[in-house]
Amino acid sequence: KKVKEPKPDWIRIKLTTGDNYQEIKDMMRSKTLHTVCEEARCPNIYECWANRTATFMILGDICTRACRFCAVNTGLPTELDLQEPERVAEAAEQMNLRHCVITSVARDDLSDGGASIFAGSVKAVRSRLPLCSVEVLIPDFMGDEASLKIVMDSKPDILNHNIETVERLSDKVRAKAKYRRSLELLQRAKAMQPEIPTKSSIMLGVGEEWNEILQAMDDLRAVDCNILTIGQYLQPSDKHLYVEKYYTPEQFAQLKEEGLKRGFSHVESGPMVRSSYHAHEQVKSAAGR
Ligand code: SF4
Ligand code: SF4
Repeated sequence: KKVKEPKPDWIRIKLTTGDNYQEIKDMMRSKTLHTVCEEARCPNIYECWANRTATFMILGDICTRACRFCAVNTGLPTELDLQEPERVAEAAEQMNLRHCVITSVARDDLSDGGASIFAGSVKAVRSRLPLCSVEVLIPDFMGDEASLKIVMDSKPDILNHNIETVERLSDKVRAKAKYRRSLELLQRAKAMQPEIPTKSSIMLGVGEEWNEILQAMDDLRAVDCNILTIGQYLQPSDKHLYVEKYYTPEQFAQLKEEGLKRGFSHVESGPMVRSSYHAHEQVKSAAGR
């Protein structure tokens, strides 16, 4: 029987609005852009936007997959907007971003999975904001190497691809993805452009065991993944996967130590950590590794 775990006190949403928050929100609407910060109701939004970090979601807001932890709508997308890279770059410029994360839904309906729009976005942001670091958080492109190469050739500052969970739970948590395929993607990215740091993320609380988390870290290090983020899964609605466990801040701190011991150049680990949280700091630490 499933018992819904009560939320512990350290899961708190800070509601301190930054000065320009509403202004940025309006600008996003006027450019018909989506940000993960807003769509996922990310608890770090005020802090990140104030720190000039944002995560754009390109290629529409309808996903061809339906991972059981994810709040994004599933369906058959129709959108393919070739002007999108330019609008992302304009928005990044207006926000004067220091770190820009670009991600997307899975577009299994497109032959390159949307890779060319990713690459176009990286280039467009670079040309407007040469000092802004650009991180791409990509889907697995169904394991297609040519699509990955299109993205890598645009030379992002960080290549991010999430394994999301431990191997045993992968099928349950994200049915159309494959744990080994994700590791292979990270390995290939490194082989294509060894100087570009790779990054991945695990969310905790979906039923994994402690030793499985450590195994996932070992698997990521075995493909020379450089940056790791670990956060707490929170259920977006009653229809989504239950939270099996809330980890304590101390356990997150312990996992950070385990990660650093294994040779990750940067580990962000905490209850409210999300893939792009404090991402601008990770660029620095990866560069200095
Ligand atoms: Fe946006 Fe990522 Fe920051 Fe959340 S952690 S507000 S998604 S940049
Ligand atoms: Fe959500 Fe990504 Fe899964 Fe689509 S592929 S349902 S956007 S996690």
